[in-house]
Amino acid sequence: MSDDPIRLPGEAPTAPAGIYEHWCEHPGCSKWGGWGYSINKHTQPHWYCWEHRDDGEALLSGFTRQ
Ligand SMILES: [Zn+2]
Repeated sequence: MSDDPIRLPGEAPTAPAGIYEHWCEHPGCSKWGGWGYSINKHTQPHWYCWEHRDDGEALLSGFTRQ
């Protein structure tokens, strides 16, 4: 007997409870934004999917070069 959680077919992966649902911010992309980029601790992070995480890297590099 195993205690594996039941995963219903067709059900999307769910975020941990209490985590705000965030999707990739790349224009036209509707994937889950699993990669968060925050300029500093006081600003809201920007979220991007695996494919568009370079957008986040560019976002950060633009602010760290000052
Ligand atoms: Zn994306």
